[in-house]
Amino acid sequence: MPVDPFPPAVPVPSGALCPRHPTAPAIAACRRCGTFVCGSDQVLLEGAVFCGDCAARPDVDYLEAFRQKYWGKRDSWAWFFGIGAVANVAAGLGVLGAATVPRLEKGGLLIGAALLAWSVAAAAFWWGARWARPAMVAVVLLYAVAQTVLVGPTGLAAVVFPLALVASTLSNVRAKLFFKLDVPREQLKKAWAVLHDNVAARNALTLGVAGLGMGVFAPFAVLLGIIGLRRVDPTAYPPIGRKGQAIAGIVLGALGTLAWGTFAAAMFLDSR
Ligand SMILES: [Zn+2]
Ligand SMILES: [Zn+2]
Repeated sequence: MPVDPFPPAVPVPSGALCPRHPTAPAIAACRRCGTFVCGSDQVLLEGAVFCGDCAARPDVDYLEAFRQKYWGKRDSWAWFFGIGAVANVAAGLGVLGAATVPRLEKGGLLIGAALLAWSVAAAAFWWGARWARPAMVAVVLLYAVAQTVLVGPTGLAAVVFPLALVASTLSNVRAKLFFKLDVPREQLKKAWAVLHDNVAARNALTLGVAGLGMGVFAPFAVLLGIIGLRRVDPTAYPPIGRKGQAIAGIVLGALGTLAWGTFAAAMFLDSR
């Protein structure tokens, strides 16, 4: 989606006038096309000034474009829960069947009921019904009660993972956009940055870590780290960050290359 970043803002010479309002002094130049704007027609986006025409473009209002791209679109969480729901029905029925065995009794019934209720909530999540979100919290609470009855307080340890899963899902920006919920621009910006900000630098760090275990990745970490570092520009629009990750990729990549290079040389000399 995005987009070459726009260079840093240029100052407006004193005495310049707005082309649309020739009596009004120009206060800034549009960050994209450079046309002068006055106070009445400037549009501020993420702290940068644009003219009205440019502000309507998806490469300029990239957060709005990001919102529209994922608005109502089923995300990977939805597929994960949808497919899991089918498997859970079988598990729930199995536990309910076993619950007729006297040893399991009430706790088993509760667990079976919780698993079936989870299937319903998860299927509703896949479908995109908003009540699926609070329903998931309710099911985890039901599961906590079931565990307490069946195992005692130590059984609550089994609730930690589902609770974390639900909490992470409900706070996920893409999952919110799938449900067409309002997401503040600040949150959109963070989600956008995770997906799109300086991907080279992010990959450099990943390869740098991988290169410590498998030397073949290490030189690529150095290369991508250098590319990522050269791209870093906090004054561009949108700003390009991840300087730390680019440097970490270079350092780890260099260490990995050195360590595995020494190792390979030693093996070679040893074999002669
Ligand atoms: Zn413009
Ligand atoms: Zn104007």
